[in-house]
Amino acid sequence: MSGFPIITADQRLAEPRGVKGVLADQGVAKQSRSTEQRFWRKVDRDSDSHGCWIWRGGCSSNGYGGFRLGYRRPMVAAHRFAYELVHGAIPPGAVVCHHCDNRGCVNPAHLFVGTPADNMRDMVCKQRSALGTRNVNAKLDDDTVREIRTRYRNGDASLWELARAYGVASHSTISAIVRKRTWKHVREVNHGI
Ligand SMILES: [Zn+2]
Repeated sequence: MSGFPIITADQRLAEPRGVKGVLADQGVAKQSRSTEQRFWRKVDRDSDSHGCWIWRGGCSSNGYGGFRLGYRRPMVAAHRFAYELVHGAIPPGAVVCHHCDNRGCVNPAHLFVGTPADNMRDMVCKQRSALGTRNVNAKLDDDTVREIRTRYRNGDASLWELARAYGVASHSTISAIVRKRTWKHVREVNHGI
């Protein structure tokens, strides 16, 4: 991944405030710096080999990370929050897309704004390329499902990491698998006596 402006969160934290958009709408620009610091503390910048910064906070129902701005304050999308902290306001009506196609990623260098139509085109492109190449890995079968459940139960990997490792579009697909809402027919293999 190259050619994207690399601005670290640390650099941004040292810069003056003045963010508009989602953050200004929520009055975040007036908040203390502690909200930003609390946000970045939930981000794992080290464990992904593709340079993705993995959100370790809560998830929203649409498969994106969610960050609560504070007590009795709304939940915002973590990647949108990260984008605005570093790049400034998201234009009205724009969506924030991922260069890296990893919904759990909040690395500002992997995020770009587009229109909803761009987002659709982007998704279609990525699905098309996925079908041609790595989709072999995306095919789940009974054994893969057992493996995913075991790895999750043993704490080997988070939902995000499993989604990425098995070429599944969203962590919620993995969540449904480990909670046995899908692939219900797959039983544990009994290795017992
Ligand atoms: Zn990324």
